[in-house]
Amino acid sequence: MPAENSFIFARNYFQMTQKDLLSITKEFGSPVYVYDAEKITAQYQRLTNAFDVKNLRIHYAVKALSNISVLKLLNSLGCGLDTVSVQEVKLGLKAGVDPSKIIYTPNGVSLEEIEEVMQLGAQINIDNLSILEQFGSRYPETPVCIRINPHVMAGGNSKISVGHIDSKFGISIHQMPHLLRIVENTGMHVNGIHMHTGSDILDIGVFLHASEILFEAAKNFKDLDFIDFGSGFKVPYREGDIETDIEELGAQLTKRFKEFCQQYGKDLALAFEPGKYLVSESGKFLAKVNVIKQTTSTVFAGIDTGFNHLIRPMFYGSHHEITNISNPSGKERFYSVVGYICETDTFGNNRRISEIREGDILSFSNAGAYCFSMASNFNSRYRPAEILWYDGKAHLIRERETFEDLTRHQVEMNFSETKVAEKAN
Ligand SMILES: *Cc1c(COP(=O)(O)O)cnc(C)c1O
Repeated sequence: MPAENSFIFARNYFQMTQKDLLSITKEFGSPVYVYDAEKITAQYQRLTNAFDVKNLRIHYAVKALSNISVLKLLNSLGCGLDTVSVQEVKLGLKAGVDPSKIIYTPNGVSLEEIEEVMQLGAQINIDNLSILEQFGSRYPETPVCIRINPHVMAGGNSKISVGHIDSKFGISIHQMPHLLRIVENTGMHVNGIHMHTGSDILDIGVFLHASEILFEAAKNFKDLDFIDFGSGFKVPYREGDIETDIEELGAQLTKRFKEFCQQYGKDLALAFEPGKYLVSESGKFLAKVNVIKQTTSTVFAGIDTGFNHLIRPMFYGSHHEITNISNPSGKERFYSVVGYICETDTFGNNRRISEIREGDILSFSNAGAYCFSMASNFNSRYRPAEILWYDGKAHLIRERETFEDLTRHQVEMNFSETKVAEKAN
């Protein structure tokens, strides 16, 4: 099989070939985000297969990639949504997701916003005692979930690790007596208990340890419907990378969960809210090489995008594999791939990539999660188009922005030159 027709991905359930990706840049221009619906579907199925419980609820974390067509795709698979803002709730409803399948897990938002989400019918998840008390006093009949912080350090990066002792997230497990007093005094209805300890969990033992703390906490509530174990599953970023062993986690947690339900006396739902796991690997970000610049120490490949469109390497130090899909069989050389933003803007240093020529298209892997959703208009650039590869075809799911998008909400003032001149005199 010629290289350009072969699958360029490690796992064969990807449907897009390099040739398909190149034709997408011809049709829709660059830079452009492309998501493979097959891969999203496969990840969803792999996750649901790993947990053998009667009632499994998967809530996709919208903030990872919030395009309405992606939400619709996940909804069609039976997936619910995890949201962190009222706007994400509204996007979910626009995508046709039933409000009962949307959980709202904000941090540090106002009571007014929580009330608005309550009106929309989503499941409220509260993560601090102050709001819990105010909400419980006003709406004792509205069931709420409580976000517990088990203080278990998980996660690969201090910016995405949210379970530690100084974390702003969740209600500390050590505040349980206070929490219970609020629940009792207000007579509120707690129907769920939740934790989310951070991203990039590799150690299943740590995750299971946190789960035990959550089970202990759950015993304090008599009328639960579900326990939500959050997310943080790690996906591979490069060849040979370790990832969360979902099947192993599934086997162990399923067993423990069933035991717990038996003790509790009720078949609870087991919930998760993965973002990255469902969409990260589905995405490719395609950019064109504007210039090859040889300096005394490095060869730079300068591309037609920057951290305004893909901030993860600069913000989190994330690794995204970079492939030259225009010259896949070229001789490999070392490059620093850089963006066009007027600041240090490096996508990858000293990367071994098949020879890059001006005009070539580079493909960035793991571009599904926290890429487009963190894009901005910095340097007054347009945000890219988004494509969903579905059923062997490219579907435009977001148009590239235009100049009107940059000016749409600006209110122009006018300054009279004579007045300025008068003042100067
Ligand atoms: C961000 C977030 C998630 C998703 O995390 P991933 O690492 O993308 O899976 C899940 N739950 C909550 C509450 C979050 O804030």
